[in-house]
Amino acid sequence: MNKKRVLSGMRPTGRLHLGNLHGALSNWVDMQNDNRHECFYFVADWHALTSDYADTDRIKENSFQMVIDWLSVGLDPIKSVIFTQSAIKEHAELFLILSMITPLSWLERNPTYKEMKEELTNKDISTFGFLGYPVLQAADIILYKANRVPVGVDQLPHIELTREIARRFNFLYGETFPIPDPYLTTVPKLLGTDGRKMSKSYDNAIFISDRGDALKTKIDAMFTDTQRARKKDPGRPDVCNVFAFHKIYSLASLICQIKSDCESAQIGCRDCKKHLLENIASAMIPVHEKMDYYYAHQDDVRDIIKAGNKSAMVIAQETMSQVVSAVKI
Ligand code: SF4
Repeated sequence: MNKKRVLSGMRPTGRLHLGNLHGALSNWVDMQNDNRHECFYFVADWHALTSDYADTDRIKENSFQMVIDWLSVGLDPIKSVIFTQSAIKEHAELFLILSMITPLSWLERNPTYKEMKEELTNKDISTFGFLGYPVLQAADIILYKANRVPVGVDQLPHIELTREIARRFNFLYGETFPIPDPYLTTVPKLLGTDGRKMSKSYDNAIFISDRGDALKTKIDAMFTDTQRARKKDPGRPDVCNVFAFHKIYSLASLICQIKSDCESAQIGCRDCKKHLLENIASAMIPVHEKMDYYYAHQDDVRDIIKAGNKSAMVIAQETMSQVVSAVKI
């Protein structure tokens, strides 16, 4: 069967959390295992520089930890190519060429650029690199001639920009790149422990690595239905973040039971969280076993990345030789 090539990456900003796991990583693992995709997953360490250029001390360590998280949740280096962006210099070379043909207006209208400029008030991101990061993203994707890019709805404008840039290249220099399609993935709505978006910067994340007391403390602290003050008040599971986690980690029978007991005020939030803690802890046992293995065998992880870099480089170099000849330089 003709497999579709998939490419996706993550910025190494620290330990991954359950939002990352269910928002992206589970889909990566599913695509890797469905026999219909040829998967390339990369550590987007150059992208980390776009907003964190002034504080680079942890990028290397974060990158390594992130790959351990990936492997622990089921990415398999036999089935997927796992590599580091900065090890493949062709990303930068293609980025440079694409920068020449990308109109500034396309970048200035990027909604994420506007939003992040407003949000990240503690960082000066009025830089060429930050404005141009969608061009680097386009280079990341088309360098491997990816057919599919797994995204959530909010990232659709980025993929559209990549498609426009690829089309413009093909128009100017001849058909070189396939136009990648967004591969829309369903993302369950899991909030952080305080009811805001789960994020390391809000200090409200449940990490994939959390276990034992660390996991218990976070689950105990989770916000529930804010209108439910006492056990005798009927609750609204559909607006409760704890219930959203149950939908992922608990059996259908327990989910139904909790829904009905919560709505009829038969169960208290403390007991409800106790069930959740047990179910998350037991689901994460195999993940933590793998994590322990990779922390104890870090050379294996380095070898996996090295081998992934080697495989990625073969494709990147092949594409760049086509690009150079198309552009006639
Ligand atoms: S009983 Fe469970 S589902 Fe209901 S409000 Fe409390 S934590 Fe949420």
